[in-house]
Amino acid sequence: MKRDIKSLSYEELNNEIISIGLPKFRSKQIFEWLHKFGVSSFDEMSNISKDLRAKLSNSFFISSCEIEQRFVSEIDGTVKYLFRLYDGEYVESVIMKYKYGYTICVSSQVGCKMGCTFCASTLAGFQRNLEAGEIESQLHSAQSDLNIRISNIVLMGIGEPLDNYDNVVKFFHNVNHENGLNISMRNITVSTCGIVPRIYDLMDEELPVTLTISLHAPNDEIRSRTMPVNNKWGIEEIIKACRAYIEKTNRRVSFEYTLINHVNDSKECALELAGRLNGMLCHVNLIPVNDVEERGNVRSTDKNIHKFSDVLKMNGINATIRRTLGSDINASCGQLRRKRNEVE
Ligand code: SAH
Repeated sequence: MKRDIKSLSYEELNNEIISIGLPKFRSKQIFEWLHKFGVSSFDEMSNISKDLRAKLSNSFFISSCEIEQRFVSEIDGTVKYLFRLYDGEYVESVIMKYKYGYTICVSSQVGCKMGCTFCASTLAGFQRNLEAGEIESQLHSAQSDLNIRISNIVLMGIGEPLDNYDNVVKFFHNVNHENGLNISMRNITVSTCGIVPRIYDLMDEELPVTLTISLHAPNDEIRSRTMPVNNKWGIEEIIKACRAYIEKTNRRVSFEYTLINHVNDSKECALELAGRLNGMLCHVNLIPVNDVEERGNVRSTDKNIHKFSDVLKMNGINATIRRTLGSDINASCGQLRRKRNEVE
């Protein structure tokens, strides 16, 4: 079975190169082709001899994300891709343009096991983890298609990144490597539904990535109704892990809070949330729930969203209401892959 050469770390690639009796500088060249230039075939590696290219392609393949569909928002230029992977599976990515540059929202798994009741990603089931190279290929494909340089990455596409921990951490290192895309870890945000043991693992890696928690409720009773993962690790445990993360990394943690009408958007909920987060170096992102057909969740009224935000602020909690981008192209993830699966 051939292995994906793009999913090797620099050190792993180096060991492979040395083990086939080649000088070390070849690792740098090959790593650059794969990660800085994002080539999808060994033949494109023009400073590598034919012999060596043949040797490499005997043992390895190069993972990629083929563009299956592309949607461009007429409202704000947000671009959404449906990518096909080598085994015929699909994932989605979204490119958003902000004042400071381009941000990509990448998928980390094909599907998701977490079962959150408002989310589309979980509906089509879980197939497999993405390899580190496949997460990175989403950047390469989008960059070359749009002729842009991406500066920021959020892991908020399909999948639960901390349920694919090793590949995700390897992706951080590869995308940050000076011979690769060289994207600062400070420009990477990893979002989790709250896999507590992995939060501690990430903390111990001491990487300057931003941690975001999909909280969506102020207490276990409400949270367990919408997020089954909460039955395993409750809010107390999550907040405790976040406080430890902040203590150790000195980095602000963010909380995502999706507002659903009559579910989690009352004044009492806002007050309870403010109490929980009291004194913490954190920020709350308020997101009006995006209606997913089968889910039947209704977004909070604008009035309630603003009220919720005001209550948090009056109680000393930083909060912003997330601007909606790409609303005309179903930019929130999980929806395309599901439609595609229905067709096949
Ligand atoms: N599994 C990770 C990464 C997914 S990030 C996590 O849970 O954090 C995607 C974000 O969008 C999460 O905060 C998720 O809870 C949120 N989300 C999912 N479905 C949504 C919907 N219908 N409307 C608004 N936000 C949604």
